[in-house]
Amino acid sequence: MLANPPELQLDNTDTQQHLWMPEQVLFTPSALDEDWGQQILTRVESLGLPVQKLKQNRITGLRGETERETYVKSKRTLAVVTAPKSQFKLTPIPPSADWQFHLAQGCPAHCQYCYLAGSLQGPPVIRAYANLPEILDNLKNYENPEKITSYEVSCYTDPLGIEHLTGSLAECIRYFGSRDKARLRWVTKFDNVDNLLSLPHNGNTRCRFSINAASISRSLEGGTASVMQRLQAIRKLAGGGYKIGFVIAPIMPIENWREEYIQLLDAARTALNFDCDLTFELISHRFTPGSKGVLQQWYPNSKLDLDESKRSIKRNKFGGVKYVYHKDTMKELRNFFQNAIDERFPNAEILYWT
Ligand code: SF4
Repeated sequence: MLANPPELQLDNTDTQQHLWMPEQVLFTPSALDEDWGQQILTRVESLGLPVQKLKQNRITGLRGETERETYVKSKRTLAVVTAPKSQFKLTPIPPSADWQFHLAQGCPAHCQYCYLAGSLQGPPVIRAYANLPEILDNLKNYENPEKITSYEVSCYTDPLGIEHLTGSLAECIRYFGSRDKARLRWVTKFDNVDNLLSLPHNGNTRCRFSINAASISRSLEGGTASVMQRLQAIRKLAGGGYKIGFVIAPIMPIENWREEYIQLLDAARTALNFDCDLTFELISHRFTPGSKGVLQQWYPNSKLDLDESKRSIKRNKFGGVKYVYHKDTMKELRNFFQNAIDERFPNAEILYWT
């Protein structure tokens, strides 16, 4: 580990960090009753963002004439609300972690393969939770005193994407820094990590960056930091003593995929040219009938390949259907990544392939 590793010139990287600024920030009355909600209000007001204090706890007025209009309006809106009681009953999230919890729901980025499509109900507004202290306090009810318990906080949002507006990720990191037997995991496609570098994380947080081949990222990941900016950010966090990880997702066998993924892994190795605690998670592209329907409404002109006839069907235990690549393609991709990663990062663990 290096303290404050120097910035690398990885590419023609724009060093300006990528920050999402909503066009409106809505606060519910219950959110304004919370100290954490007031803290968020102070932040967004200091950024000069238009604030609206609602008279009721329901978020309305985001529907447009079409799903696309609803999408555009919602993705420009941050709503600060209190997390519903249902969020206090945690659910497991294998293979990533023992439990998932949420500091927000909805994401400011525009990935045309978005994992949230079809899994969240209603307009895709970004809801940040004002009762964070209560959410964190609940986590210890799920800790196992006999062994380490892990928690994933990025299932329904990109927590770094809204961090400048909420400060909630830093608060989570501080909380986990104070727990002996609990570990935090989060993943992002943003790069504004500077405020996280000096937090008392005590090695209890693993920060992961979702990365992909340049042509996939450029064409499908709107509103995110570039892959090179993400590599700069992970370098900073590793230098700050954090455990780190790459989530390569969604892996797609595009034209020239071997060359593109080799370039990606070479750039990652250049960014992490010092000892660090690094893991990989490898996720091939998949979609469901529901997610396809939503994505086609959100991104009607997308070039994302969602052709069921080129895929195999995978069923979950509840009978739900996913379309995945054929077995031979999966095997080829998996072997490729296993070898390419082992060669470049002999000390890194591959946590799973799916
Ligand atoms: Fe969806 Fe993740 Fe992209 Fe956000 S960063 S738009 S959650 S895929």
